[in-house]
Amino acid sequence: MPEFDPSRYTLTARWVFPVSGPPLQNGVIEIDSGRITAVHNHAPKPGTVNCGNVALLPELVNAHTHLEFSDLQQPVQPALPFTEWIKSLVGVRRGSPATAAVIQQGLAECRAAGTTQIGEIATQDWPSETYQHTGIRTVVFRELIGLSSDRAAVQLEIARQWLSDPGQRDDTVTRGLSPHAPYSVGPDLYRDLVNLAVEQDAPVAVHLAETLAELELLDCGTGEFVDMLQRFNAWDSQIIPRGTRPLDYLQPLASVSRGLVIHGNYLASAEFDWLETHPRITVVYCPRTHAYFQHPPHPWKRLLDRGINVALGTDSRGSNPDLSLWREMQFLAMKFPEVDPNRILAMGTLYGSRALGCDSELGTLEPGKLAQVVCVPLPEAQNGDSYRLLFAGQDPMPLGWPTS
Ligand SMILES: [Zn+2]
Repeated sequence: MPEFDPSRYTLTARWVFPVSGPPLQNGVIEIDSGRITAVHNHAPKPGTVNCGNVALLPELVNAHTHLEFSDLQQPVQPALPFTEWIKSLVGVRRGSPATAAVIQQGLAECRAAGTTQIGEIATQDWPSETYQHTGIRTVVFRELIGLSSDRAAVQLEIARQWLSDPGQRDDTVTRGLSPHAPYSVGPDLYRDLVNLAVEQDAPVAVHLAETLAELELLDCGTGEFVDMLQRFNAWDSQIIPRGTRPLDYLQPLASVSRGLVIHGNYLASAEFDWLETHPRITVVYCPRTHAYFQHPPHPWKRLLDRGINVALGTDSRGSNPDLSLWREMQFLAMKFPEVDPNRILAMGTLYGSRALGCDSELGTLEPGKLAQVVCVPLPEAQNGDSYRLLFAGQDPMPLGWPTS
């Protein structure tokens, strides 16, 4: 695929998937100064660049990554029980600390797979330069961990400094907070962090309702997390009130500008009701990671049916063989042929952009939006359903225009 300059080209291809509307056979995308001016399937103007037997679609959005693990060659074992996986992951990191080069390796992998925007969790104060000049817009959620109250003040100060760093003003890097999860952040610290994010107009990401063991810990103060936390010397039996539910971690998010509920595998009707009335909160589903941990079916279809935004993520290479959001979508399309495929496409594009606050610029191929387009090489089949052809396509490639 040749390099294109979006200020000078009109593109046509066998199929164009705008996401905001039905696929267009022999579709045309007109571009001026890096923005889309028209999308149609009328006869193309002279000079139009024909991309051939490919599909053109909006660049992809990976709403949940931990790029500090991008050097892992394969997912960490064992997958189960979950707390053993966490212990293994912690062991891997202690043996080989994260570096900026590893994060950049992950960014390059995401970019090569057609991703334009990511929601990244960072355990350290990496400078903004780490994420810049990659062709990707990154929302960096600084991870905070502290179950017992004696760690709370330090974690809150880390969060405060992270958000006040002038680096956050960069166009391609936005700073947010990630109170890690209910089993690793005490309820008071959680509320303080969310309040700080509200004060600073920063987005929040929290791992929530990920395992049954987490629900047991919240409800009863028992189970495998207690054993793990005791081994980490971090358990305090009084810190989480008995009878706590995931809903108790959603309610403080009511005033955040944007919130990401990562996984949400075991959300129940009370949480559905709350999410339905809080459209700034997105649930992020990580399909292949979800399968790796052998959870029962994720409630993503029911969430979407209720009008709740659901985005897709790869999670880290600690639970996924690669960082390709495209392969997450292919996985879903293959596993759920009964689902409207444009919905799957939207989860990896528009809904992800909505989650990360860029849907006015990205996520669909529509006039006025940035011309950030990926091309998916299609099989040679002459006929067939457009979506079936699309999801049988090869890994996407960004069209290679200048990136900031
Ligand atoms: Zn995660």
